[in-house]
Amino acid sequence: MARILAVTNQKGGVGKTTTAVNLSACLAALGQRVLMIDLDPQGNGTTGCGIIKREALPTVYQLLIGRSTLAQARLKTDFGFDILPANRELAGAEVDLIDMAGREYRLRDALAPALGDYDFILMDCPPALNMLTVNGLTAADAVMIPMQCEYYALEGLTDLVATLKKVRVHLNARLEIEGLLRTMFDPRSTLTQQVSGELVEHFGDKVYRTIIPRNVRLAEAPSYGKPVIAFDRLSKGAQAYSALAQELLDRQAAMGATTELAGASG
Ligand code: ADP
Ligand code: MG
Repeated sequence: MARILAVTNQKGGVGKTTTAVNLSACLAALGQRVLMIDLDPQGNGTTGCGIIKREALPTVYQLLIGRSTLAQARLKTDFGFDILPANRELAGAEVDLIDMAGREYRLRDALAPALGDYDFILMDCPPALNMLTVNGLTAADAVMIPMQCEYYALEGLTDLVATLKKVRVHLNARLEIEGLLRTMFDPRSTLTQQVSGELVEHFGDKVYRTIIPRNVRLAEAPSYGKPVIAFDRLSKGAQAYSALAQELLDRQAAMGATTELAGASG
């Protein structure tokens, strides 16, 4: 059964799309079956995987409004994982969904038949707490929160945690925080070090050990339509996202072992 992760933060430019694309590619490189879902009408995640948006029809939009199934809309990337693409049309979903029954659950229901096809489903959420993000959070098992360690980051995080609580109460009781990811990290900045320290103090183990450094190859790769491991395998960015993929698998294995132990002793 797929583990469904929403890569989310209502702040733009924190590395959500970069994380969704590169983590998908790195998990696939480790033999995982991965589906990436582009939930952002900007479609940066789609082009970042080498999919031309104009040609990418049907998209997640048709899926949400019930005009397409997942099997019809998903595409294979050249990088060992599948993608459910998006383009600007998706911006209309907000309005189209208003009077649809169960509008918060449409993505969850559309994914249900395909959960056995994947080990991971990663959703690249838009930089807003809108109906698209709500569909993502309702479908998800957990959220992965990329963040830059800068002054306003912790404030934004408080808002996000409050939203997650609301979603848990009203729409999706099983939603957890999978982890917080420090992105675009510059260890030379004192402020970065400070915010990073506070983050670990507040969230403890929820902060991934892996840190994503600021790395120009990560910013360049999307213009070639490639994840960074397919663009510059030895770059710091490629190494960091590979390490993150491994950390995710290690954590999951540890969780499984704990559950088994609890089961055996209980
Ligand atoms: P979001 O999806 O949260 O808006 P993006 O992933 O699109 O954020 O990242 C914003 C910008 O920063 C993009 O131009 C991206 O290429 C760049 N970027 C993201 N992560 C890094 C990094 N670790 N190092 C350098 N540039 C990065
Ligand atoms: Mg984005």
